[in-house]
Amino acid sequence: MTEPLLSLRGLGIRFGGLVAVDDVNLDLPPSHITCVIGPNGAGKSTLFNLITGIYKPSAGTVALDGEDITGLPAHQVAAKGIARTFQSSRLFEDLPILDNVMIGMHARTRTGVLTALLTPGRARRELAGCAEEAGRILKSLSEALFARRYEPAGILPQADRRRLEIARALASKPKLILLDEPSSGMDDRDTADLMADIRRVMAENPGLSFLIIEHDMRLVAELPQDVVVIDYGKKIAHGKFADVRLLPRVQQAYLGQ
Ligand code: ADP
Ligand code: MG
Repeated sequence: MTEPLLSLRGLGIRFGGLVAVDDVNLDLPPSHITCVIGPNGAGKSTLFNLITGIYKPSAGTVALDGEDITGLPAHQVAAKGIARTFQSSRLFEDLPILDNVMIGMHARTRTGVLTALLTPGRARRELAGCAEEAGRILKSLSEALFARRYEPAGILPQADRRRLEIARALASKPKLILLDEPSSGMDDRDTADLMADIRRVMAENPGLSFLIIEHDMRLVAELPQDVVVIDYGKKIAHGKFADVRLLPRVQQAYLGQ
């Protein structure tokens, strides 16, 4: 395999008596889509929180492009090139759609996009360059969203909220984007559009990888190149979905058979 983009070694965290993530070893290559599946409460979101510096691991290491980033605070992990979305969407509801994309640039600029966005006048005008770039990113994801860029994010339906969150993640120019259950609350049509969006973003951003927690089996069957199965905090399988789904442990743990 080529040099891994993300490497987890013996990664774990315990909350009191509960080992929520247990000795996870994982290598993700660049330019790759990997889905994470597993039952509710298996530790998938916690794994994301460990990778992105929201939780500090009780054991193990996280490396990005060969650099040890274990224990770095979340904003530094973001600056290193890992962007994410959360299980429940987190947008600045009252701010325009475009500004929500610009907030994603905060991770890689030193000029304080966040402060400038909240301040009228001069600081605001200095953001013109950022606004242009944010506009380009938004447009690449959705012409319709771009057309509505000055409307507040809070009015958007679920599918567009997800799209906007992906645009915001892209604005940080990441190497890796983690999506936590992006298709939740979407119908079939929205889910199909989401898959197409992710594929297009991959094609337009060479080297970019996605790690996606997903419960919709159609999406898991079609979208990723590889699937990781988590159960009781442990990685129990990693491979092509067609192979992984046949493993007895996976059928037991996840498919309920
Ligand atoms: P999943 O995303 O796979 O549904 P989670 O990662 O959210 O599962 O949770 C895994 C387990 O860790 C659950 O039992 C959950 O209650 C527990 N957990 C997650 N975060 C915390 C925390 N901050 N404190 C205590 N327990 C937690
Ligand atoms: Mg979760």
